[in-house]
Amino acid sequence: MDAQVSFLDQLFDAGLLIDTGVPGLYGRSGAFEDVIDRFDALITSFGRQDGAEVVRFPPGMNRAHFERSGYLKSFPQLAGTVHCFCGDDAGHADLLQCLSEGKDWSARQEMSDVVLTPAACYPLYPMAAKRGALPANGRLFDLLSYCFRHEPSQDPARMQMFRMREYVRMGTRDEVLAFREAWLQRGRELIGVLELPFEVDVANDPFFGRAGRMMASSQRDQGLKFELLVPVNSAVKPTACLSFNYHQDHFGQTWGLTTASGETAHTACVGFGMERVALALFRHHGVDVEAWPRSLRRVLWG
Ligand code: ATP
Ligand code: ZN
Ligand code: MG
Repeated sequence: MDAQVSFLDQLFDAGLLIDTGVPGLYGRSGAFEDVIDRFDALITSFGRQDGAEVVRFPPGMNRAHFERSGYLKSFPQLAGTVHCFCGDDAGHADLLQCLSEGKDWSARQEMSDVVLTPAACYPLYPMAAKRGALPANGRLFDLLSYCFRHEPSQDPARMQMFRMREYVRMGTRDEVLAFREAWLQRGRELIGVLELPFEVDVANDPFFGRAGRMMASSQRDQGLKFELLVPVNSAVKPTACLSFNYHQDHFGQTWGLTTASGETAHTACVGFGMERVALALFRHHGVDVEAWPRSLRRVLWG
């Protein structure tokens, strides 16, 4: 690949991603989506034996649930809220006037009951808690959602709107840690069969502000988050393509979720960055899927 042309431009040139004029907001071609679909099916095949319950939410969630989740405490910089016009005829006239003059037209936009989903698992915890205590052996869910994070970037692997597949385990501390351990191993096998170079490392979330720096280092010290990293946009700074998160009893406490024996539930999730893995494949195997190694094509397309 031409080192002078950025990876993002190569993806635009190949037609895999479509420029919308906003960094991190892209259209996807049929070829790109085909790779996403095949990767999605591969994840399913790696997790099939566990019999996870499939749940799909839209890419927006209940604002009240979002507020209670603690997301704004940790990541206010990433959140996206949905605002809607709630004015009358006069307000509409004002809006059109502002638009035509190129002025700020947001005055009559009011916050709606919907916020954009920041991670696939956020809408799940209140749903699970509403069902009552967990059954014996806890629960396991299979999720996929478009997610939004306000982190515009020229790095194609850092999108504002992207898909996250997740398995989420709820149960005792031992149950959820065993789940995470199993996926740390499966994740390595999964990326291995895609013939991608990777490393697994301890990580932290981008907690906001001064207090956030302490939360980040405590998260690392306790080994609560691991990432599987693949060089995508840069060889020196690899990209987190899978993440393995242990939330302790944070969501159990927040939502009053208990185990069958009445203790506060622990939770863990494994997240797959769908676009990131697709981009890693295009980076390492080329933009033409027909030219990918036969062994890899067999893994994905059978
Ligand atoms: P990073 O450290 O690169 O910001 P993250 O720690 O924020 O990643 P998670 O919050 O663990 O990522 O999200 C789960 C998965 O979603 C990640 O492993 C990654 O593959 C994917 N992901 C996260 N942010 C983005 C993004 N901006 N664009 C595309 N995929 C993303
Ligand atoms: Zn999650
Ligand atoms: Mg991030």
